[in-house]
Amino acid sequence: MPDLRLVLVGPPGVGKGTQAALMVERYGLTHLATGDMFRDEAARGTDLGLTVKNYMDRGELVPDEVTIHMMRSRLAGKSSFLFDGFPRTVAQAEALDAMLADLGLSLEKAISLEVDDEVVVERLGGRLVCPIDGSTYHRKFGPPQAEGRCDRCGAELIVRKDDNPETIRERLRVFRESTRPVLDYYESQGKVARVPSAGSPDEVFAAIIEALGA
Ligand code: AMP
Repeated sequence: MPDLRLVLVGPPGVGKGTQAALMVERYGLTHLATGDMFRDEAARGTDLGLTVKNYMDRGELVPDEVTIHMMRSRLAGKSSFLFDGFPRTVAQAEALDAMLADLGLSLEKAISLEVDDEVVVERLGGRLVCPIDGSTYHRKFGPPQAEGRCDRCGAELIVRKDDNPETIRERLRVFRESTRPVLDYYESQGKVARVPSAGSPDEVFAAIIEALGA
C-alpha cells in the first residue's frame, strides 16, 4: 500500500473517531489522535496527563506547545499517518508541516467532515464510550448489544466528562474560532476534501473514499 498522510478535521461529534477506525483498517495508516493520547495520559496520571486534564474537562484546547511537543515524539520512524483531532490551530498546522518536512514528507489531503451544529449536539448528547478499548456507541443511533456494556470487551460504558451540554457548546465555539482557520490554511495549499457527514458511518466512509479518489 502506498504511503499516505491525511488529516481529519471536523467539529466534536462529527464522527472523526468512527471514520478514523475505518480508514486505518482500509489504508493501514498509523492513527494519531491527540484526544485519545491526552485521555490516556490523564487516566494514567502522568505529568502530561495532569497538565492537560483541566483544559479537556472545560472543553478548551491544550496549549499549542504541549500538543506539538507530544505529537513530535509520536512521529518518529513512521511514514503513513492519519492525524485525527490534530492540528486544531493554525500554529499546529504550521508545526506539522515543518515536522513532516524534517522527515522528507508532506500531507496529501485534509479531509473536512461537515455537519450542522444540531447534528453534533444530538450525537454527542447520546455518546457512550468504552474506557478500556475506546469503542464508541450511541444510545439512539448505535446502541451496544447489551445495555451499558462494550460489545468488544464487556466493560461498563461511560459518558465522557466533556460530553455535557455546556462543554459541548464550548467545544463547538472553540472549533469555530480556532480550528476553522486550519481549513483555510489547507485550502490555500489546495488540499481540502469536503465530505458531508450527516449520513450513516458507511455512507460517510464511502464519500471519504470517493473524495480521496481511491
Ligand atoms: P477529542 O477527543 O479530539 O474531542 O479531544 C478532546 C479534548 O482534548 C479537546 O477538547 C481538547 O481539550 C484536547 N485536544 C485534543 N486534540 C487537541 C489539539 N490538537 N490541540 C489542543 N487540544 C486538543
